[in-house]
Amino acid sequence: MRYSEIMVRYGELSTKGKNRKDFIKQLGKNVRAVLSEYPEVGVKAQRDRLHVTLNGADDKPVMDDLQRVFGIENFSPSVQVEKDIESIKDTALTMVQEQFKPGMTFKIQTKRQDKNFEYHTDQINNILGDHILENVEGITVDVKHPDIEIRVEIRMNGVFLSSETIKGAGGLPVGTGGRATMMLSGGIDSPVASYMGMKRGVKIDMIHFYSPPYTSVQALSKAKQLTSVLAKYSGGIQFIAVPFTEVQETIKEKVPEGYLMTIQRRMMLRIAAEITKSRHCKGIFNGEALGQVASQTLESMMAINDVTELPILRPLISMDKTDIIEIAKKIGTYDLSIMPFEDCCTIFTPPSPKTRPDLEKTRKFEQYIDVEGLMKRSIEGIKITDIKPNEDYMNADADIFAELL
Ligand code: ATP
Ligand code: MG
Repeated sequence: MRYSEIMVRYGELSTKGKNRKDFIKQLGKNVRAVLSEYPEVGVKAQRDRLHVTLNGADDKPVMDDLQRVFGIENFSPSVQVEKDIESIKDTALTMVQEQFKPGMTFKIQTKRQDKNFEYHTDQINNILGDHILENVEGITVDVKHPDIEIRVEIRMNGVFLSSETIKGAGGLPVGTGGRATMMLSGGIDSPVASYMGMKRGVKIDMIHFYSPPYTSVQALSKAKQLTSVLAKYSGGIQFIAVPFTEVQETIKEKVPEGYLMTIQRRMMLRIAAEITKSRHCKGIFNGEALGQVASQTLESMMAINDVTELPILRPLISMDKTDIIEIAKKIGTYDLSIMPFEDCCTIFTPPSPKTRPDLEKTRKFEQYIDVEGLMKRSIEGIKITDIKPNEDYMNADADIFAELL
């Protein structure tokens, strides 16, 4: 079947009353951005539907891209035909024939917006139903659970037929939920947490800490590559690389071993909070899940959270690792995440970090280091990259490292 348009149905729109206009406008913008590589394709965001007119473009890659856009409940590839009953009959029959296997049932579902069309809804259903029963041997009607459902829409600007409904990504259009930062490591969890933040409409800036020469060039490139995969769901993403070597070396030298991890995390969060505020972002996402590792107990989270008032958002907090891995595979980050380049936390993690750090002791031990000075120098060294979807960032950062060493 040669489709002429993709008809897109909105997600949680009905519950969003007064924000409806923003939702539609933002979704239109996001769909246009995702489809910008197809100049012939047109995007029209209307009150109850969004229409993607193909104008000759191949429908498959367009639908692949649409499937990653948040705010879409589902969509149907459709064929536009003349407003004349013979053309509608021909197309409906072809659609059925393309899908029919012995024993299958069907149903015709017509909606008529153009009240001047010469037949009304029931008449159209009957005419098309009869035509299909006559021409497809062995097919029967089932109005409750049909195998094949042909939807016919008689609109003002033409007649549209579709038979397939493809599930969209759900969620809310990226950009309708404000802006936040994400603490992105090279692990499995934080890319999944990023995806889940974006899914609720948040535009995300990535913050990644790296510690040359203890971490490799590849670890930084890998974080960028993960960002590029995630950018497929949100459009371009800013990636903020934060040098963390001096902070870690100083902590390692001055702080008792049991508190290394907690104080490292506090420094990360302090720096992330500064960056977040300076960009007018409203919260910090991370990939923590309760009980996963030493830093992810309630006591640890309390001791680490102590350094900022900003909301810390943890989309994975109650998830099991196996479920997180399943999402990572689905969104295309898993294979990258399991590449074996160590990030800055693993390298400085002591053999037995405190799983229940004491807040007062944490604060006391932190006085052994120059918090302000370390933060300032780290923030002065940040490097920002605009990451695009589908680009190759592996082996791209040798020069940054050469400069820092
Ligand atoms: P992940 O798989 O996301 O790395 P994890 O289970 O390995 O998570 P940790 O390494 O303890 O757990 O990290 C917990 C969270 O801290 C991460 O999900 C991430 O949000 C943040 N984080 C860890 N390392 C970095 C880093 N190098 N840069 C930025 N954020 C980081
Ligand atoms: Mg990790």
